[in-house]
Amino acid sequence: MNVAALLRGVELATRPIHPETRTALELRWAQLPEHVKTPGQLLGRAAVGCEGTHGVFPKCNLTCSPCYHSADANKVRIDGVHTLKGVTEQMEYLRSVRGPRAHAQLIGGEVSLLPAEDHAAALQAMRANGREPMSMTHGDFDYQYLLDVVLDQEGKPRFDRVSFAAHFDSLMRGRRGAVRPHNEAELNPFRAKFADMFTTLKREHGVRSYIAHNMTVTPSNLDQVTEVAQAVLKMPYDMLSFQPAAYIGDDRRWSGGFDAVSIDAVWSRIEAGAGHPIPWQGTQFGDLRCNRTAITVNAGIRRAALLDPDDPRDLAARDRALAHFGGMIFGGTPTWNVGAKILRALLAHPGDVPHLLAFALRLMRRAGGLRAVAAAAFKRRLSFKTFVVHNFMDAADVAPAWALMEQGVASDDPKIKETQERLGACMYTMSHPETGELVAACVQHSVLDVGENIGLRKMLPLRPLTHPPEKGDPASASPASADAASADAATGPACTSNGKG
Ligand code: SF4
Repeated sequence: MNVAALLRGVELATRPIHPETRTALELRWAQLPEHVKTPGQLLGRAAVGCEGTHGVFPKCNLTCSPCYHSADANKVRIDGVHTLKGVTEQMEYLRSVRGPRAHAQLIGGEVSLLPAEDHAAALQAMRANGREPMSMTHGDFDYQYLLDVVLDQEGKPRFDRVSFAAHFDSLMRGRRGAVRPHNEAELNPFRAKFADMFTTLKREHGVRSYIAHNMTVTPSNLDQVTEVAQAVLKMPYDMLSFQPAAYIGDDRRWSGGFDAVSIDAVWSRIEAGAGHPIPWQGTQFGDLRCNRTAITVNAGIRRAALLDPDDPRDLAARDRALAHFGGMIFGGTPTWNVGAKILRALLAHPGDVPHLLAFALRLMRRAGGLRAVAAAAFKRRLSFKTFVVHNFMDAADVAPAWALMEQGVASDDPKIKETQERLGACMYTMSHPETGELVAACVQHSVLDVGENIGLRKMLPLRPLTHPPEKGDPASASPASADAASADAATGPACTSNGKG
């Protein structure tokens, strides 16, 4: 490599915003509907949005009510080759359209049913395409499985950090040790045990983690959100995410009253559990009817909002950060590289320095002052918690709204119009490289999953295609015999998927 090429490489590596990221963000912003182009909008300014896989391992071994996956999902065999191929193709397409960096969920069934080597390979394929993967699970697996995913055959870490989202709520059936939980509190030991696995992983192998706690909310457990938030905040989860139930996916798993659970109703209970307001109005991620997000800083026992939406100085700092730092890639980037990017951004915009310093001082004061923050940092008790409520839409609204959008028709019907507006501003995308489409997860689960799973069922049948089994040899169905048992269960009222995306 000659000197000029080396210098060009260093310049690109330390450029605050990667040019491909900038292009992807600008396109994203241009495609957003006008009603979400607010000063606090993060889509198209700081991020391209979240992404998720689909159709790569539809099966699950727990039962949820509701279940967002199609009734056929549990009749598809787990197949690592198919998983890796699908994940790679979907991520490559997202990389080409959405730029070099995004957060993506490895989702679409129960990820821990994948053999550990396949799970690890899927994460590597996502990383290879600039995706920060998060494995979405019901959390009912043993520490050894986590080790098998994270460590290679020689016991060395394949990853320096991993990210998992665990779904725990009393609407799930079949968890080992809590087959039919009567209430949310019964699951707290399982929530804690899951989180502890990652603390142990860090201690024993130095692998960092980011873990999220997911809970579906229906009228039956809405009033337990407060105690769940209270309990989970004491555990080392980084994110608390709640999803009001929607009429989407497997209609055998629906019950009445889902519409009665609003984002506001869930948020007020989260705040009650946290013991303080969690202001969210300073930023938005997509459409506010879909998604609400806020971050707090925790300094020991004191928690404070990262951004105070009532303080115009905080909002001015936000505006500068989004304008000049939005899209900067931190994850998977060496510290020196991040430092160089920040330095270059500050040199290009020196007027930001006093605003950002003043913001940092206000944040420190909110979090208890310099001494409290320093003490918390010293004791490794300084952390951030992200709160999310994601409000999926009903299939009955999404299907007609999407059909009209495919024809380029804007609906006059108020409900379908609202649905189209939300789909147009979707922050949670799934990719279809075969058609060149990016679709909202709502569309995937409301419209596309059914046909996709019919095809997958044929491609990956639970039993080998050599029916009937040889006489007296039911094991001729092996290795899919366990799958077949699940399939039988799935023909009953149970669909077994915990995925909410
Ligand atoms: S997946 Fe559905 S609810 Fe979620 S952001 Fe997209 S359109 Fe909104």
